[in-house]
Amino acid sequence: SKPIVALVGRPNVGKSTLFNRLTKTRDAIVADFPGLTRDRQYGTGKVGSYDYIVVDTGGLSGEDLGVDTLMASQVQQALAESHGIFFLVDGRAGITPADEAIAIYIRGFGKPVQVLVNKTEGCNLAVLTADFYALGLGDPIGVSSAHGDNVAEAVDDLIDRL
Ligand code: GDP
Ligand code: MG
Repeated sequence: SKPIVALVGRPNVGKSTLFNRLTKTRDAIVADFPGLTRDRQYGTGKVGSYDYIVVDTGGLSGEDLGVDTLMASQVQQALAESHGIFFLVDGRAGITPADEAIAIYIRGFGKPVQVLVNKTEGCNLAVLTADFYALGLGDPIGVSSAHGDNVAEAVDDLIDRL
């Protein structure tokens, strides 16, 4: 069966934008305010060389990991059923305490993780990704969910590791 890739990260980093790009749909609602994706949303991956399933999740704010039970459990379900994880962060915002808390949470699942530093179109990738090595989840890749930069490469890299 097809590998499942979960999209996780704090609100507003671009998970739903990436979901729509990967599935070539507009099924996930993209919003300028956080927290819109309440449930997991599934789609068929259409970008890259492999067949796979993508799961979009609601945002995880680091402080909410134990508090917003419904949201946390949706994310937990997505992580539990996935084979690989895209952990999205916002390259323009830089690393936040919530990112650090989510990194610890994700590491507990022991699954292949790729950190995607999103919103890097038109930016110096080396500069924007440098901070995120501190998450301890390997080499971050700079992408643009909105424009598609590096997205196909990132999917192929992750699925190659599954
Ligand atoms: P989510 O809460 O993580 O699902 O984030 P969304 O996909 O809803 O996006 C949140 C905001 O970030 C929206 O205003 C998007 O248009 C914007 N956004 C998403 N991806 C990118 C990107 O690659 N570059 C830029 N500049 N903005 C983006
Ligand atoms: Mg969303």
